[in-house]
Amino acid sequence: MKKTMLTGVRPSGNLTLGNYLGAIKNFVDKQEQFNSYIFLADLHAITSYIEPQKLKTAVQNSIAMYLACGVNPEVTTIFKQSDVLEHGTLGFIMTFQTKMGELSRMTQFKSKSSQQSKEGVDTGLFVYPTLMVADILLYNTAIVPVGKDQQQHVELTRDLAERFNKRYGDTFEMPDVYVAPIGNKILNLQNPLEKMNKSDNGDNKGTIFLLDDIALAKKKIMSAQTDSFNKVHFDEENQPGISNLMSILSKITDETFESIEKRFENKGYGEFKKEVAEVVANLLTDIQTKYHKYNNEEVLNEILKKGAEKASIVARETLQRATKALGLN
Ligand code: AMP
Repeated sequence: MKKTMLTGVRPSGNLTLGNYLGAIKNFVDKQEQFNSYIFLADLHAITSYIEPQKLKTAVQNSIAMYLACGVNPEVTTIFKQSDVLEHGTLGFIMTFQTKMGELSRMTQFKSKSSQQSKEGVDTGLFVYPTLMVADILLYNTAIVPVGKDQQQHVELTRDLAERFNKRYGDTFEMPDVYVAPIGNKILNLQNPLEKMNKSDNGDNKGTIFLLDDIALAKKKIMSAQTDSFNKVHFDEENQPGISNLMSILSKITDETFESIEKRFENKGYGEFKKEVAEVVANLLTDIQTKYHKYNNEEVLNEILKKGAEKASIVARETLQRATKALGLN
């Protein structure tokens, strides 16, 4: 029997090149080897305020985007998190297995909450990792392909699964995280010390969205921040901008860093950036053509309906196992 692979993305805006290279591409490349599930983490999207209409649109666009990125609904179960009610219930249960200290140590919480006063921090930002724990455990997941920023959450999942299994008897499968060696943290093009994010402080110059106008995406790459070494060389510490562009190129084309360094040995950054821009433009053109083809509400709703039915069967079984172990039924 195939093992289960699961991943999810928040439909809180347009998906980025970071989402694609860090999570979706790894999932797509492996989807046939596993019993595969991909979900739209719409409950995670409401941990902070999002306009309802914006959320609705983002959900539909994100499923079309999954398909455009190569997720095959014949092979993979695609569903919306809020369609499977067990996520909320198990999330609630797993919150009660967790210490305040564990959640306070989550780097995402630490970095986001440090920008606001404690009074104003959304509790969603604090407790959402336990919902993620439930997302993973419900499907007896063996492998979770995510970007580096999510690694800590899968580790929390393992800790809580182990704690629950010890206290209440063997209930949950232990998941492993899969963080690909290349492209696991695509950086902001204008500030290569920060991750490329969906929200990019307003001007979006540092983030490539998969739906960006092609000329604009090229322009973003051409104006990416680099350094004064003038050497195409992979060195994340001293040349984060160039290393980031190398990761993007290598992850899309499968060319090794050594080979890239060799080809651009005596060439300037301009020529290198031009090639990266071209490769990204081709990728985006391909994704966008498919995206427009798949963005049909009726077809997408049908995919989500089927996906939710299939996912619910497994989720229900797992939740029943957990509530039985707890003495609730
Ligand atoms: P999110 O957009 O936060 O819901 O993230 C969805 C998935 O994309 C997660 O697996 C993240 O780890 C991954 N991801 C998001 N941003 C990046 C990035 N800049 N580089 C690599 N992976 C990313």
